Amino acid sequence: MLIDGHGRKVDYLRVSVTERCNFRCQYCMPEKPFSWVPKENLLSYEELFEFIKVGIDEGIKKVRITGGEPLLRTGLDTFLKMIYDYDPSIDLALTTNGFLLPRAAQALKDAGLKRINISLDSLKADVAAKIAQKDVLKTVLAGIQKAKDLGFKIKINCVPMRGYNETELIDILDFCKENGFEVRFIEFMENKHAHTGAKGLNSQAIQDIIAKKYSFTLVPRTGPSPSQGYALDDGYVFGIIEPHKSDFCESCNRIRLTASGVLIPCLFFEQSQSIKEAIQNKDIKKAAAILKDVLANKPEKNNWNEGNENEVSSRAFYETGG
Ligand code: SAM
Ligand code: SF4
Repeated sequence: MLIDGHGRKVDYLRVSVTERCNFRCQYCMPEKPFSWVPKENLLSYEELFEFIKVGIDEGIKKVRITGGEPLLRTGLDTFLKMIYDYDPSIDLALTTNGFLLPRAAQALKDAGLKRINISLDSLKADVAAKIAQKDVLKTVLAGIQKAKDLGFKIKINCVPMRGYNETELIDILDFCKENGFEVRFIEFMENKHAHTGAKGLNSQAIQDIIAKKYSFTLVPRTGPSPSQGYALDDGYVFGIIEPHKSDFCESCNRIRLTASGVLIPCLFFEQSQSIKEAIQNKDIKKAAAILKDVLANKPEKNNWNEGNENEVSSRAFYETGG
């Protein structure tokens, strides 16, 4: 079992397989052109898998594949199958912007994947295009439909942004409710790569909008999910991910691995350690020791308070996988 320096059980590993992306979401990607990590500096799937095995052997129970856009990296289905075959009891999930799902979903299903989180910030083509800086809505909706038809358990992620999608939150909730998807509104986390002036809605503002149509009650937390549930009168539960709340980190069970082999204990802080050399030298003991050291020094809580935007790590969300 993996326990961090604050007594929290850590059993959830998020693995970013690429920092590249086919979208340029206002809240995630820089305005100016940027350069990618050269492909030769990335860990191969086999190397990422070696570390995932270390994690699973030490107590990781849930693995989420993310990016950048994970479906841009070829062979993702084979990678998922490697993890699934190693331990079919692992809760294996994927986070994607959905654009490549129409053609990728079947292979993901065949690889053993059962759960997909898909980002959907707007149901209006022009707003979705403004946020992603690309005409995406039709293809993303086709991807969502394909995943639904194949029987995937689907969660929808939506980042409410001032001046973009704030008028659509009820429509997005209704879309998810009608389709049997859980929706999670994610508070915008200020970062150095987001579009200048990007401003999100906090949990209270999101609730105030939903309250215009629905009454709801807070669902008491039972596990370490980052999402706070709110139950409508008919039982449908929507979630809000509230990293600005002071108790958000109390039950944090997560650690992140980037595509270049960097282990990150907290999105907010700069601190990290690379497992790349250990894995490439096949030094499994060293990789396990680095994992334990990173967890021993995992920060107690983030610092996403108003006015602290400049303290946030210089790493981009498209590098860490959100
Ligand atoms: N490309 C995939 C996608 O968009 O779903 C996976 C990677 S993306 C970094 C993972 C999640 O992080 C997405 O749901 C995205 O909306 C969210 N995200 C990105 N930047 C964010 C920010 N600044 N604040 C809050 N959520 C953010
Ligand atoms: Fe790409 Fe996802 Fe970032 Fe949007 S949120 S730019 S889809 S990595």
